[in-house]
Amino acid sequence: MSLKKNRKTVVLGTGGTIAGVRADSSNPDFYESGRLRVTDLANFSEEEHHHIECLDVAQIDSKNMGLPVWQALVKAVVNAFSREDVGSVVITHGTDTLEETAYLLQSLGPWPGPVVMTCAMRPADHPHADGPANLRDALSWGMKAPSDGVYVVFNQQAHHALSVQKISTDPLRAFSSGFAPLAAEKIDGEWVWQSGPPAVTRFDMPTTTHFLGATQWPRVEWLTHHAGCGSEVIDVLLGSQGNSVNPLRGLVIAGTGAGSFNGKWNASLKAASDQGLVIWISSRCAWGISQPQANQSAGELVELPPAKACMAMALSLMAQDAK
Ligand code: ASP
Repeated sequence: MSLKKNRKTVVLGTGGTIAGVRADSSNPDFYESGRLRVTDLANFSEEEHHHIECLDVAQIDSKNMGLPVWQALVKAVVNAFSREDVGSVVITHGTDTLEETAYLLQSLGPWPGPVVMTCAMRPADHPHADGPANLRDALSWGMKAPSDGVYVVFNQQAHHALSVQKISTDPLRAFSSGFAPLAAEKIDGEWVWQSGPPAVTRFDMPTTTHFLGATQWPRVEWLTHHAGCGSEVIDVLLGSQGNSVNPLRGLVIAGTGAGSFNGKWNASLKAASDQGLVIWISSRCAWGISQPQANQSAGELVELPPAKACMAMALSLMAQDAK
């Protein structure tokens, strides 16, 4: 690993499979996420230890990510970059919701240096654990990457936070940027730069200070339309608003194809909109872009896949609440 610029990398751990340990030694795929501390995720040399500082922000399975851990993580990133001697931040994270946290960090940026997230599909004590190599790649990409970007390093590729999605449970092909270019790829052991960050649709975003002071996550739900579905699920959600301590603020609809849904959904979503909910229409196709549809009037089209759309909507609601 080349350790240049004499600036440190702060490595923040949040848990995930990369920090997972097998729960049953006879079955390498049955494990518990987030058991190890971040300092134990690679066999760092003494020289490397001079250049990195490890901090455990959380030790969770990323399905349990939510406002408290996101706030602790953002605070740790702010603290790291407030130091003159820190050049980059690396974050270890579970693969399952990594794209949401990547989108969050990108939205709260730009940061003074690169933020590189990484992960693993196999637990740390698996005979073919991928975490140590991914972590080393994340550290080396963090030392070369253009500042102010947020990246996801996995299996020798550096993805832009805005493009990457978890698309598979196959250990080597878990992440893809679809039709969007990678930030960089490791070829013959060297990072080869490929592209700068994609253009962003700018939503209203909270400031970091406001994000860190928030006490409640604006509740947003994601519903997927499919052949033969009824709209009762939407009606039930609307009917339960009065009993909820954190009422629903918006819906992200993963429509069929380019964001279509049937007439029953159109009527229920219009009712939801009349009740003040924000309705965004995305596509259930991994790389789908929603487009205007004949005989469909509910909701607003959004050029984001559903997981990122949920994050963008919650953040934009938080920004509105701050006004
Ligand atoms: N369930 C794990 C997590 O997201 C999966 C992983 O890291 O691969 O925390």
